[in-house]
Amino acid sequence: MYLGVDYYPEHWDVSIMEEDMQRIKEMGSNIIRIGEFAWHMMEKNEGVYDFSFFDMVIEKAAYYKLKVMFGTPTATFPGWLAYKYPSILSEDEHKNQRVFGGRRQYCFNSEIYSQYSNKVVEKLVSHYQNEQNIIVWQIDNEFGHEGSDQCFCQHCHRGFQKFLENKYKQIDVLNETYGTIFWGQTYNRFDEIPMPTTTITTHNPTLKLDWARFRCDSINAFAKKQIELVKKLKGKHQQITHNFYGGFFDRAYDQNIMAEHLDFVAYDNYPVWGGVTEPIRPEHIAMTLDYIRGLKSENFWIVEELMGAQGHDIIGYLPRPGQSKMWATQAMAHGCQNMLFFRYRGMTKGAEQFCLGIVDQNNHKGRKYYEVQSFMKGIKEYEDIINSEIMSEIAVLYDFDNIWSWHYQKQSSEFDFTKELLRLYAPFYKYNVNIDVINIKRDFANYKVLIVPVMQIIDEKLASRFEEYAALGGTIIFSYRAGIKDSNNNIYFDKFFPCNIREIAGIRIEETESLLGEKFAEIEGIGKYKDRNGKCETWRDLIILETAEALYKYKDQFYSDNLCITVNQYKKGSVYYIGGGVNAEILDEIALQIILDNKIRHINSPEGLEVYIRDYNNNEWLIMLNHSDKEALFKDCVIEPYGTKLIKL
Ligand SMILES: [Zn+2]
Repeated sequence: MYLGVDYYPEHWDVSIMEEDMQRIKEMGSNIIRIGEFAWHMMEKNEGVYDFSFFDMVIEKAAYYKLKVMFGTPTATFPGWLAYKYPSILSEDEHKNQRVFGGRRQYCFNSEIYSQYSNKVVEKLVSHYQNEQNIIVWQIDNEFGHEGSDQCFCQHCHRGFQKFLENKYKQIDVLNETYGTIFWGQTYNRFDEIPMPTTTITTHNPTLKLDWARFRCDSINAFAKKQIELVKKLKGKHQQITHNFYGGFFDRAYDQNIMAEHLDFVAYDNYPVWGGVTEPIRPEHIAMTLDYIRGLKSENFWIVEELMGAQGHDIIGYLPRPGQSKMWATQAMAHGCQNMLFFRYRGMTKGAEQFCLGIVDQNNHKGRKYYEVQSFMKGIKEYEDIINSEIMSEIAVLYDFDNIWSWHYQKQSSEFDFTKELLRLYAPFYKYNVNIDVINIKRDFANYKVLIVPVMQIIDEKLASRFEEYAALGGTIIFSYRAGIKDSNNNIYFDKFFPCNIREIAGIRIEETESLLGEKFAEIEGIGKYKDRNGKCETWRDLIILETAEALYKYKDQFYSDNLCITVNQYKKGSVYYIGGGVNAEILDEIALQIILDNKIRHINSPEGLEVYIRDYNNNEWLIMLNHSDKEALFKDCVIEPYGTKLIKL
């Protein structure tokens, strides 16, 4: 098991490096990550490469038996490069060029940037291909993060037009697909097509979806080129990874595509960032970890695990004693098997002065140092369990085309895709069920239950996969707006909603309502849910029954004949439809019924106590994680506030 820290030796006087490494080692580390962001140190002047500083660092690290993960430095570039070639700088949607000074502000479609970054990567990897102490290359840093997924420069404009020409071949095909007859937007040539920058009203929905696909392609093309280069030059003992970030559903970047080319996936886990008054909810952190594991359906690394409070200009919540260790243990429970903490010591200068680490500016071994030490010592004892494969009977399915379609047309000001995914994930998380979060393209036939949140794009091919799955006995849970659009982001004609899945859901929808602001729709239970009352926020579909059974209906002067929640027995399977942003209590009860009906392994635990089940050596192991500031009692164990325990059942 690799455990360690992100070090950045170039930030400090070399005279303290010896003591730093000793302390890093003493803490329990066997790896450090270095190099990303240090392009200027490697190429101070154009074409003059010098790796002597890192030669020295790597030699010292080897002396302390610390392996090295080396980051290629292309997420930030030297000032001289931006000065010489301002065209490498990306532009925001208002066509303002992003100036040198922050990070990640290069254009993925800049040929010049590509040439210069490939040169430095080539020199770097060639220099270290035989270095036994470097075991992993990290490509760049957090592709697409912090808005860097978007660029509206001239390179990108031409690239977009080319992308469309390759896709549609003939302009008439594009016109027909987009419906440019509307507002007389018909194009004669591909080079008439705009990027979706500022205009009056809004751009064509299909153009916007294509733009997101183009952005995603641009990032992946840049990344792939670099990965191929490193693959060609690296030593056989060296692996390749990239560190993905949270907030992935908000970016025009499908991380699945890049994950295919990596030896393993790495993640930067920040349950607290910037101006948050409370950490991200436990189920939200859990979902992101399940998503990262789902990128390759394999256990993964975390290369930035938060220890201290974090922020650029605004600092958020201070993790309580033990809380960061608990989050690190939660990550291990969900499939992380090697972990590096961000960062060894907070930097006193520069933009991340307030991204605090294990050691602070006083340079003393304080509480956080001993917390990490105790985590590293403790977790190593369970290495075999941590390395075991995670088995899940439930999958949450997502599709980036669908997410991007929602991103550009929220339909309700209250809509947020991650919130809607969590609305259906959380009730199952509550019962401590293992869940995979995977791309819709993956094979889902072996799961007992599929959770399909707000899947508004369902084409006939996908619908037939759902049909086959349900027919063979699977349970599917759809939520509102399912199947209203085709894969071109156009609304279906001459069919009832939910299109293509109407028969398996056993319902049809003729009218819907966006619930804005504080507006709610009251609902009440029917049959076995009689006397239960709840509400919808954000959206409601006014469901008409066909073959389905009604579970909840609207309590409403005009729509009391319409249903909100239904279930349909389709051949051997069951298809649920949740027609709105239904409150948690109602969804918890339905989730429990689904868990029981499908005989899914689950655990009832006290509020705030997450229990993750791992299977190893024919035994069940429980990793208990107390997310609350109160003591928890479970299975004769007392788990202190923000404490953890691992037991064999
Ligand atoms: Zn650009």
